[in-house]
Amino acid sequence: MKFNWPFIGNENVVHFLQKNITNNTISNAYIFLGPVDLGKSTIARFFAKSLLCQNKDQVEIITPCENCDACEKLQIIEKQYNIAENGCKTLYGDFYLVNKEKEAKNISIQQIREFISALGMSSFFNSYKVGIIESAETLSLGAANALLKTLEEPKQKVVIILVVSSLKDLPETIVSRSQILNFYPVASDIIYDYLTITRKTTHSVAKNLSKLCLGRPALAVKFLENKNFYENYIKKVKIFLEFHNQDINDRFQAIEELMKKNTDDQTPVQLANDAIIIWMGIVRDLLLLDSGHTDLIQHQIVSDELRQIVKINIEAEKNSDNLLKLMQILEKAKQYLKANVNPKLVLENAVSSL
Ligand SMILES: [Zn+2]
Repeated sequence: MKFNWPFIGNENVVHFLQKNITNNTISNAYIFLGPVDLGKSTIARFFAKSLLCQNKDQVEIITPCENCDACEKLQIIEKQYNIAENGCKTLYGDFYLVNKEKEAKNISIQQIREFISALGMSSFFNSYKVGIIESAETLSLGAANALLKTLEEPKQKVVIILVVSSLKDLPETIVSRSQILNFYPVASDIIYDYLTITRKTTHSVAKNLSKLCLGRPALAVKFLENKNFYENYIKKVKIFLEFHNQDINDRFQAIEELMKKNTDDQTPVQLANDAIIIWMGIVRDLLLLDSGHTDLIQHQIVSDELRQIVKINIEAEKNSDNLLKLMQILEKAKQYLKANVNPKLVLENAVSSL
């Protein structure tokens, strides 16, 4: 049996899952654990597709074959929905996907009931039935309990995959019944090679994105494929760099514009939180440059501007203590956001003491 899963890094997990298929040792429940953007969802889809592929037992065929009825149906679904971003559920007889609805806090018990009942019906093609739960750490307590009942009485040929970034919000009783697979950040040179060889990017694009994504290959791919997303990211970087040449009024003006032009369709809190995380990354870069670690910086694309800021700081006799203090201010700003302080105020407060 051969596989054509597009993966970057985390080979151990991929090979383990492929071996599960080859040796017919499929578990009833898997937990794909690790930070976002490591490719967990992609691997989950390809694992599901290979299980559902009607040609998977044919020695010479590469799976998923993309040719049989099951593969074709899944292709149509993938084209119709951007499953990761909207769609809380996607149905094709043997494949079911649950995600948190965009505005909701949790995955609801109702969603999980539908999920369980869909998986309980017999298979369209007399094959496996696979259900994926994205962001499973957001299962409501009721939803988690409903799911637990299903895991306690597993059905043959039903596979459930929980994609989670952390185990702390999942009941131990679910965790103990699942095969846990850890996903880790991927070395930047592996991502670099993927971008230049498979995606045929230029070396400078690969250098930039492989550092920018901080070991998260799915994020590098998103930067590459979604121009708008990338530009919004860079805009937040540039706003922060500009702050260093601005007085407080100009900074507040910049924040006002940032909050107004919300093109990523985020809530104001998400937007502000994103900005703070990006700005913390820049401060980390400044700290790295300050100690001479040029090759380690995340924002290679603005390395000249960053060097300039370090130079100005040295001339103004600001040392790394100032940067560490700024880091603390930004960390605190994140907490204010969590505590529902007005996001614009939080940002203004954070940049007033630059
Ligand atoms: Zn197939």
